[in-house]
Amino acid sequence: MMEVQELIPVSFLNAFVYCPRRFYLEYVRGMFEDNAHTIEGRSRHHVVDMRGKEARPGIKEDVIHRRSVSFSSVGLGIIGKLDLVEEKEGLPAYPVEYKKAKKPKSMEPWLNDRIQLCAQGLLMQENGLPFPEKGSLYYIASRARVEVLFSRELVEETKKVIAQCREVAAVDEIPELAGNRNKCFGCSLNAICLPEEEEVLEGRKTNARRILPSGLEGDVLYVDTIGAYLGLSGESIKITGPGGVEIGQASLEKLREVVLCGPVHATSQVVHACLHREIPVHYMNLHGRYLGMATPMLHYHGLLREAQWKAHFDSHKCLGLSKEVVKAKIANMRTIMMRYLGEERAETDEANLRAMKAFRRMADEAEDADKLRGYEGIAGRAYFSGFQRYVKQDRRTFFFFKDRNRRPPKDPVNALLSFGSASLPKTARGPESVWVLIPIAGSITP
Ligand code: SF4
Repeated sequence: MMEVQELIPVSFLNAFVYCPRRFYLEYVRGMFEDNAHTIEGRSRHHVVDMRGKEARPGIKEDVIHRRSVSFSSVGLGIIGKLDLVEEKEGLPAYPVEYKKAKKPKSMEPWLNDRIQLCAQGLLMQENGLPFPEKGSLYYIASRARVEVLFSRELVEETKKVIAQCREVAAVDEIPELAGNRNKCFGCSLNAICLPEEEEVLEGRKTNARRILPSGLEGDVLYVDTIGAYLGLSGESIKITGPGGVEIGQASLEKLREVVLCGPVHATSQVVHACLHREIPVHYMNLHGRYLGMATPMLHYHGLLREAQWKAHFDSHKCLGLSKEVVKAKIANMRTIMMRYLGEERAETDEANLRAMKAFRRMADEAEDADKLRGYEGIAGRAYFSGFQRYVKQDRRTFFFFKDRNRRPPKDPVNALLSFGSASLPKTARGPESVWVLIPIAGSITP
């Protein structure tokens, strides 16, 4: 049987030149994490694509514009959707790629962008058009256009990058960290790649710099007003209450997740718009019980799924994974205790902190899942025994905490704790679906 070659999207060539590990994580492992840059970039491309839907080729100042044009080539082994193809009478058509960033100052465009553009030119040639010999990068933030000549060297370099991408994908071995570590700060995969932690583990550094969460403020929309209605209004979701009064609006550009609690109605246009932008929509009942989600298309890559299934049937591996989770949980609880007890630590607090350290060690040595659950339970009890003291002095009257109670929670603190626990499946299922993990094939499920 003939082997069908998988075509690499040209945007991944850009990722490869930026950092081969980034290409590997995104293309081979199917991992993708948004940050402010990627969300903004996608939104700007969406606007470009939308214009393409408006119409057929447009003509402006004697230049024919075609937007969102797709080309592929088995010979080159790549595929791409070109933001814009322009054509002037008597001259070959050429690609224009939109970049959300500002135009680089006093230097030519970054190599990764030039390679991506040149690959688009090669795709046009492979599809029967004359080779363009040049293309343009349009920098949205500076509203500036820069011409890129497709020199012989750039063409050679582009073909070399395509070949290197294939090699990395075929070997399936994670490449080294980016040579220029400054790139890691703007990289959306930072929290998945963990470059700082890797350096600490390998003894090249003593401290990992803190990774800022990739989420943006206000990026999860919760709606729990009974009878609320969500409709699409341009690029926003408009929320109206039962009497038709507008409660608020949320820009799709900034949203990461939508959570609908109880009898809240979202039109299919809203759900479609969310799924189109890879925003999952979660459903909970009014008591905070998680019901399920409408999820964007799963990533096609199955390597992780395969590894998860293998691990699920390996009891040794399951115990090992579960230990790591429980140990991290106990360590986090201990960190919170130290942070909030501060200087006010009494002898009992010191004893509790020592006990937490011991529980973590015992969890590491647990012989089976039952013992592990036991250590997790007693560590939780020790943590909650001083919980009232973690709440600020002036708020303790309202946020009074005596003990943990649930179903139903009897005070504001327990209500918040229960709400947090109920929201956890939602938070966990996001990455599960994006990384094609299967919830029932966990490592500590009975
Ligand atoms: S965090 Fe750094 S090493 Fe990791 S993928 Fe991004 S740029 Fe590459």
